[in-house]
Order: sequence, then structure tokens, then C-alpha cells
Amino acid sequence: LSGRNVLVTGGAGFIGSHLVRALVPENEVRVLDDCSTGDPSRLPDRVTFVEGDVRDSAALARAGEGVDLIYHLAANVSVERSVREPVWSNSVNVGGTLAVLEFAREQGARVVFASSAAVYGDPAALPVAEADPMDPLSPYGIEKSAGDGYVRRYADLYDVDGVVLRFFNVFGPGQSSEYAGVITAFVENAAAGQPLTVHGDGQQTRDFVHVDDVVRACLLAATTDHVGEAFNVGSGRAVSVNELAETVLEAAGSSAGVVHTDPRPGDIDHSRADIAKARDLLGYEPTVALADGIRPLLGVP
Ligand code: NAD
Repeated sequence: LSGRNVLVTGGAGFIGSHLVRALVPENEVRVLDDCSTGDPSRLPDRVTFVEGDVRDSAALARAGEGVDLIYHLAANVSVERSVREPVWSNSVNVGGTLAVLEFAREQGARVVFASSAAVYGDPAALPVAEADPMDPLSPYGIEKSAGDGYVRRYADLYDVDGVVLRFFNVFGPGQSSEYAGVITAFVENAAAGQPLTVHGDGQQTRDFVHVDDVVRACLLAATTDHVGEAFNVGSGRAVSVNELAETVLEAAGSSAGVVHTDPRPGDIDHSRADIAKARDLLGYEPTVALADGIRPLLGVP
């Protein structure tokens, strides 16, 4: 992607900062972020940073005047907080997305939206495809499904070129530990020589996708003709939490093992993306194998 004028909301966050680094060499990049979980100090110099809330149309206008492409990543990403504070979380995740869509409509900009595998809930059959029913289990998942629907419908209703990417379990360097997924927690414990905490029996499976692959999907979404569509962005592979624990312990050279605790209420049993649509229509192809993505997190070549 080159020569574009791009706004990344949530650009100071984990995925956003990787995306910004990929965009910066050949595009003009602005970031709007309220720094609630993000950290602007990790952004490269050649970025215009605006601190502000994505729900605030004045902040959007300040950050995004003249852009032709908006990556909307800013969100409350904590499922647990969405359960505790659903009204607030809805305001950020649904209200924020609508504010971005309205701004994009005024500007004539394309929107690429960070949706989530959480929109599917616990799917009846795997791998889960885009046309399968959405049945989210949490306010976070409900909010993402609303944003996902708005972005797709703004394409028909208001001619806003919107592309929805449903990220599965993203991992990679720079994931904040507070709300981070299981990989970051395992890596931190393994590096400290401590046992890894597995919720439940560890037979639950997830589709882990490296942030570099997610960034490539984001770049492909900028130019695709398939607007008004949603695409799964995963690895297409299922890995059990027990297998993941083994991979992390092996990479760390740790013999600390795992401890099992009670299952977490509301956790889904199994998840795996059908990535045929992203492959066929976007040209997306995941490239980073799980073990290859984990070793650098432990400082192992
Ligand atoms: P993150 O917390 O690192 O990034 C979110 C960023 O948004 C942060 O920099 C935060 O400060 C900012 N932000 C939050 N509320 C804001 C607001 N009201 N106004 C402006 N900025 C605000 O999380 P991430 O993992 O990088 O997630 C990025 C996006 O991808 C989110 O939309 C998330 O829901 C989605 N997603 C992530 C995953 C994953 O596995 N990490 C999976 C599916 C979807």
C-alpha cells in the first residue's frame, strides 16, 4: 500500500502499532487514540498523533481531516469489563464505530473495521465461516457484531466502502499483559520459570494468528473490491491450550509444567476460522507458524 492518507484509530495499541509501522514507510499516517490501553511512545516518529476519544467527532475531524482510508481498531477490548460495564462498553464499541462511519461518510473514506471471532459465540460446527450465524456470548461480542453489521450496511445504505475483518486470537510482540491472551500469560510465566495456569482441562482449542499476518490482511483490505463484506482472519488451525502450553514450555526450555484451575465461566470450547473466503477474495495467506511466532517472544532465536 502506498501514497495513501490513513487514519488508524487505536493505533497506539498492540495491533494498531504493528499496522502503523507497516504503513509508515509509504503512506501518510495519523493516529487517534485515547491512551486508555495504548502507548503512543511505541509509534514511529513519522506519525501524526492525536490524543482523543473516537466517539468525539471534533477529535475525529482533527485527526482525520483529508484521509482516504480509516482503520478502526479503537475499542474496549476487555470482555470482562464489557460484562461489568455493558453500557459504557457499548458506547465505546458501538457508538465509537458509528462515529467513525459517519466521519468516513463525510470524508468519502474507506473503513476497515476490527471485528472479532467473538461475534460467533460458541459455533455449532467448525471451522466457522462468515455466513454462519452470529451468537455472541458477551456484551463485547454483541457490540462487535453490531459494529460489523453497521460497517457492512453502510456500504449499501450510504456508499461507504467498508471491509470487516474478524480477527481470531491475535498474538505477537507488544501485546499488553493486562487484557492479553493466553499466549502472553504463558510466555511471561515460562520466562519466569513458573508453571503455566490452564483454566479447565486444557482441551479447549483456539485459532492463534500472528499479528504480522493480521497486518497483511489489513493491507489487503485497503484495496479489495469486495466492500460490504466480512472476512475471517485466523490461521485456519486449531491448537489446544495444552498443546500451546507444551509449545511455550519447550521453546522456553522450562520444565515447570502446568497447573489446572477451574474453567472460566463464559469461555468457549472450540474455535477455528474457515479462511477460504479471505484466501479467495483478498489473497490472504497466513505465514507465521505458532512455534515460530512464540520463540521471539521468549527471546529465543
Ligand atoms: P489494544 O487495547 O492494544 O488496542 C486498542 C487501542 O484502542 C488502545 O491503544 C486504546 O488506547 C485505544 N482506545 C480504546 N478506547 C478508545 C477510545 N474510546 N478512543 C480512542 N482510542 C481508544 O487491543 P488490540 O488487541 O490491539 O485490539 C485492536 C482491535 O482489534 C480492537 O478493536 C479489538 O477489539 C480487535 N480484536 C483484537 C483481537 C486480539 O486477539 N488482540 C481479536 C479480535 C479483535
